[in-house]
Amino acid sequence: MLRIYNSLSEKKEDFVPLQEKHVGIYACGMTVYDKPHIGHARKEVAIDIIVNYLKYCGFSVTYVRNFTDVDDKIIARANERKISFCELTEENIEAFYRAMDALSLARPDVEPKATEHIPEIIAMIQKLVEKGYAYPAPDGSVYFAVEKFKGYGKLSGRKLDEMISGTRFDVDENKQNPLDFALWKASKPGEPKWESPWGEGRPGWHIECSAMSTKYLGDSFDIHAGGRDLIFPHHENEIAQAECATGKPFAKYWVHNGFLTVEGEKMSKSLHNFITVEDALKQYHPEVLRYFMLSTHYRTPIDFSMANLRETEKKICYFYNTLAQLNQFAAKATKPVRNEKAVEFINEFKDSMDDDFNSARVVAALFSLFKYLNEVLVSKKTRPSAGECAGFAEAIREVGQVLGALLRDPKEIINEIKEIQLNRYGIKREEIEEIIEKRKTYRAEKNFELADKMREELSAKGISIQDTPTGTEWYFSFN
Ligand SMILES: [Zn+2]
Repeated sequence: MLRIYNSLSEKKEDFVPLQEKHVGIYACGMTVYDKPHIGHARKEVAIDIIVNYLKYCGFSVTYVRNFTDVDDKIIARANERKISFCELTEENIEAFYRAMDALSLARPDVEPKATEHIPEIIAMIQKLVEKGYAYPAPDGSVYFAVEKFKGYGKLSGRKLDEMISGTRFDVDENKQNPLDFALWKASKPGEPKWESPWGEGRPGWHIECSAMSTKYLGDSFDIHAGGRDLIFPHHENEIAQAECATGKPFAKYWVHNGFLTVEGEKMSKSLHNFITVEDALKQYHPEVLRYFMLSTHYRTPIDFSMANLRETEKKICYFYNTLAQLNQFAAKATKPVRNEKAVEFINEFKDSMDDDFNSARVVAALFSLFKYLNEVLVSKKTRPSAGECAGFAEAIREVGQVLGALLRDPKEIINEIKEIQLNRYGIKREEIEEIIEKRKTYRAEKNFELADKMREELSAKGISIQDTPTGTEWYFSFN
């Protein structure tokens, strides 16, 4: 039975969707004022795996993820760059797709944009005003009256009076209560604006998610996901808006991914440790980055560092080298056979994922399986039969499909990783091949002293070599 940690109850709950075989999931997407960074990648990988696993369990899934394409940051950045806000958001949406496609993330079924849902947003605000949960302010904005909603604070565990007494507010004569938040913002000169019953303006941030999630998934739906940092106020406000407008419970399960730090520090432009996905992918293969992200449980904080990525890269190469061997033996099989060990591995995979999508535990199971395979594949005596090898390969593919990893042709991906490493260390492939060629000549001449010198030369560049029946192979070795 799948169990999910629900931020609303602060415990793991059995997952019982509203409809028997279908799951509706909404995830807050990016505010597209900049290119996606590795924190975005972490969140997207986490949700991708959740969606994959739900499908693996036999659910049909409707996955909705929005783009916030109008807000203060977007307007400020577009002004700074002297381009229209549409130009800016289009550019960043493209960058988002490039990054996420590289990471093999499946696209959601629906990707609504705030600017394309103004009528739905206005309709929801109107409903809130009619029901007395919201009020138009003198300046033409509309605010949500937090005191009117009894459930306000239920997700974040905050109490309204504590929030009021614990915070300093600037006086705003438009608001009845300093905690009230804007559903509709009256437009200032030069800002993007739309007609509304309250005059020209634009939607506040929170309302778009309530309006778009309920439009595509219904008033009540199964899973709402997003980063931990969105719990308050964004998700708290989403609940208030939706439940007051529809009179029904909003999302049943709230899933939040943990933070990402860079070398132990919060990522920010001012600390100069802001890493875009694009930059990270210049240094490491997308599958390495993806595997790195999923090696930590989605709720646990993750620390991004080059040393950690190097470790992951090493592991991925180890896996694919083993897979290459396994595939060779499996090729002789007439049909795959799942022996006890393979069945055990799949069971551990399911148990781990059923336990709040614990991909970190899956990664541990994978590592021990590969370690075992490495031990038994070396000798004829211990090697599983061809059918059993095919059974292992099939089991690894089954798990790989959920993780979005270990699905590539080993030779191909190892070569791609090598290209990236060569780039990273500023070494040319021909340089290495030339030294290997020289070593071959020296060895043929039985000049072992010089041949060893060549090996040392490579070793100084961080490269190890291995003589195989088909020639000398080289790879980067890290201490
Ligand atoms: Zn949202």
